[in-house]
Amino acid sequence: MRYVSTRGVAPVLGFGDTLLAGLAADGGLYVPEMWPTLAPGGVGDPGNYVATALEVMSPFVGGAIAPGAFADLVREAYATFESDEVTPLVDLGDGLHLLELFHGPTLAFKDVALQLVGRLFDHELGRRGERVTIVGATSGDTGSAAIDACRDRDSMDIVILHPADRVSEVQRRQMTTVQSANVHNVAVEGTFDDCQDLVKAMFADVAFRQRMRLSAVNSINWARVMAQVVYYVVAAERLGGRRAPIAFSVPTGNFGNAFAGHVARLMGLDIPQLVVASNSNDIVTRFFESGTMTLGEVVPTLSPSMDIQLSSNLERLLFELLDRDGAAVSALLDDFRATGTTVLDPVLHATLGDAWSGARFHDGEVMRCIADEADRSGVVLDPHSAVGLLAARRCRRDPSVPMVALATAHPAKFPDAVESATGVRPGLPERLGDLLDRPERCTRLPNDLAAIQAHVESCVA
Ligand SMILES: *Cc1c(COP(=O)(O)O)cnc(C)c1O
Repeated sequence: MRYVSTRGVAPVLGFGDTLLAGLAADGGLYVPEMWPTLAPGGVGDPGNYVATALEVMSPFVGGAIAPGAFADLVREAYATFESDEVTPLVDLGDGLHLLELFHGPTLAFKDVALQLVGRLFDHELGRRGERVTIVGATSGDTGSAAIDACRDRDSMDIVILHPADRVSEVQRRQMTTVQSANVHNVAVEGTFDDCQDLVKAMFADVAFRQRMRLSAVNSINWARVMAQVVYYVVAAERLGGRRAPIAFSVPTGNFGNAFAGHVARLMGLDIPQLVVASNSNDIVTRFFESGTMTLGEVVPTLSPSMDIQLSSNLERLLFELLDRDGAAVSALLDDFRATGTTVLDPVLHATLGDAWSGARFHDGEVMRCIADEADRSGVVLDPHSAVGLLAARRCRRDPSVPMVALATAHPAKFPDAVESATGVRPGLPERLGDLLDRPERCTRLPNDLAAIQAHVESCVA
């Protein structure tokens, strides 16, 4: 399998180079040259996560990794999940289901992709005899998932910047209590935006970037999308088979998760409806409603992992909509960057049709949903998952088609919101029970590029 850029200019790459490159050299995102087709019957053991994962992902990996080695990486990645089913389904009645994606080591759905991507990076770098320094900024969630995915891997160091005193204690401790020599936490005396700016500045410093061999595992990496296609297929297998129609509702931020659902559809799964669920930061919902993409201010909400201004993975959908015309994608996004807004051709917008729906919910509705669902079914939702369930209920079109709402975080990750909605503070799962007693490792630094760069050098030395 070969990969092309959504902007059409960057070199065509194989899987290994696409994995390590992340962003394409022309600023675009890599997508496979063609979409493989799912066998309608599937493998012998429908609903088995690892078996389905191997079948779904193998065509994307192509010959880049030996099948036996790839199978080992996939098995190891999903053995870190607490549930044997990896992503268990919970029946809420009336054909409505929750797909719990939060049973990985850091209790959020990012683990599903990152546990595999960390291992893929290590494998590919090891094969090449190379070593990288992963750097990233986090407002809480992504950092812990990336750290857990990269800890103790021979071919990488990982340096994660978080805003000092501005992440919750659970979030901070999920990062700082990891006792691995290749994990380096930095608490920056500044905001999350400052952390992001520092990371961007480190990448922009070409000499530094090359000397440190900087790399990233961010949400535009193709391999993350690839890993997320799997649970859509697994859910279908568990609810009537690959040929039966099934709808999904996806709590959306960067649109990586929702786009993975679209890939499952392009590969042949019968998904008549994909619902994009937003909090008050609703750029994607507005895009599906009106074909207009407009930059807004980020509003902080109870579902912070969906508080984004621009959903970068929309670019992959635009590429498909525009018939894989990289120049047209570039023109649209240049317009967007220059003016803060862009409008899709109405004819193209109409082709989105019934395949996509969107809905947005503010924090008050989210709190009520968490309280109501705990009363009704006893299921305790985190705020992100509640947004997904609200949208599933509001947008569901055909009651004869099962609707699966993706649950993206464990309630214990957002204990304050859940406690104030339900009156009960959700407890951490047993394996994280002593998190608050574990020793922390973290360096506090001023919001100063030179100081951060000197620290990164000392970590890698
Ligand atoms: C990252 C994240 C999301 C958003 O997923 P995207 O793929 O960025 O759309 C939703 N919920 C949680 C808990 C997350 O961590």
